[in-house]
Amino acid sequence: TPDTTTPDTTTPDTTTPDTTTVGRNSKALGDPGHGDAFTDHLVTTRWTADTGWQPLSLGPLRELSLHPATIGLHYGQSVFEGLKAFVQQDGSVAVFRPRLNAARFARSAARLAMPELPEEAFLSAIDLLVRADARWLTDNPRHALYLRPVMFGSEANLMLRESHEYTFLLMAFLAGGFFGDTVEPLTVMVGRDHARAMPGGTGDVKCAANYGPTLLAQRRAREAGCQQVVWLDPVERRWVEEMGGMNLFFVIDGEVVTPELSGNLLPGVTRDSLLTLAVREGYAVREGRISIDDWREGCRTGAITETFACGTAAVVTPVGRVRDTEGDFTVGTGAEGAVTSRLRTALVDVQHGRAPGQPGWLH
Ligand code: PMP
Repeated sequence: TPDTTTPDTTTPDTTTPDTTTVGRNSKALGDPGHGDAFTDHLVTTRWTADTGWQPLSLGPLRELSLHPATIGLHYGQSVFEGLKAFVQQDGSVAVFRPRLNAARFARSAARLAMPELPEEAFLSAIDLLVRADARWLTDNPRHALYLRPVMFGSEANLMLRESHEYTFLLMAFLAGGFFGDTVEPLTVMVGRDHARAMPGGTGDVKCAANYGPTLLAQRRAREAGCQQVVWLDPVERRWVEEMGGMNLFFVIDGEVVTPELSGNLLPGVTRDSLLTLAVREGYAVREGRISIDDWREGCRTGAITETFACGTAAVVTPVGRVRDTEGDFTVGTGAEGAVTSRLRTALVDVQHGRAPGQPGWLH
């Protein structure tokens, strides 16, 4: 078990912003966008079969030096997470539901024959980094610290087997709106040519190998004027599962419905939170199966009034228009609906401490 309480003091802790820091982006002072306004620090630890997890170390964000035969680069032994820290009403900073991310990270690692980082070490890493870099947060309500833990097989060996050594890294960036500074309804494309997951595969964990194969479809969607790909189930090719980095919800006859956890889609922390918050807001809520034909037909008859995407990065973002080789359609009026807007407010209020969540949601 790692000693998670004492940062390694041999590593310099730069508390003054360093303008030469790796990846510092000039946009950081305006809308930071998503994914390049990196903060100053990095938390690291390593696992070997002999030592187990070593103590966490906090140091300046830096580049890595890797042997070309690093297993994680070749055979995809790499898992990651995404979670956010928010400024609270009283000026303190809280991380939203990190224990769920710790559990998912451990599940992802186990699925890839990697050692599990204990929950307490995961949380200590988060605490170290957020304490070091919280001053990047301003009172801009759209800003958050996006925290990115990643773990990969770091042994240099090209035998096709699991690594005997792993590196854990935790970095952060200042996040603005994932889709820019406004919440415009998305135009999405139904992914007919590729599948994101397969039965018995890794669709329900967060490993690097789930994402690379989706990027070609994502590029084609973008070229066709769409912001996201909607993934269908890999067997019957008709059940709507999720999008590239976010889960989906539908408002069907006034009921809030999300695709059930089929084993192929990622159990999102935001999805789970919205299932709870929607009940609290007084909606009937259901996990079920929605086919692409149900979705199109429901929008035609008016039974489906809203669809929205949700995730740590996407928060709650309406889907306005769907493009599909079997026929395009518009959801509701194409503008954001009342349920979507109300659930986003409910979520964001909890994340910023303006409304109570469930016990343990804010860390
Ligand atoms: N689906 C996929 C494929 C994702 O990558 C993500 C982002 N982690 C989500 C859904 C949403 O999950 P969360 O709410 O935990 O961010």
